[in-house]
Amino acid sequence: MDDLVKALRAGEQADMDGTLVKVSRQACEEAAAAIEALQAQLAEARDKARSVADAYDRANPMRTADIHRDGCDCLRCAVDSIRALIAFANMLEAAK
Ligand SMILES: [Zn+2]
Repeated sequence: MDDLVKALRAGEQADMDGTLVKVSRQACEEAAAAIEALQAQLAEARDKARSVADAYDRANPMRTADIHRDGCDCLRCAVDSIRALIAFANMLEAAK
């Protein structure tokens, strides 16, 4: 994503076949700024989700051995989903 922002700020980008594409600088700057704003919002949302999951774990330190069906909408399963999404997002960031 950082490369995309850099390409947008450069004002032109060659396609895979070498075709050079020109876009107005204003459009590129607006697109790059929008991407960076979304990245910042995503990081903030991830931090909030992590704090909710951590608060749940502090309030419920003992995990029960009961089995939940796929698609269960209980709070425990929602927290598990949050942790899985955070781990996936961290993996994507590490792969940059
Ligand atoms: Zn559940």
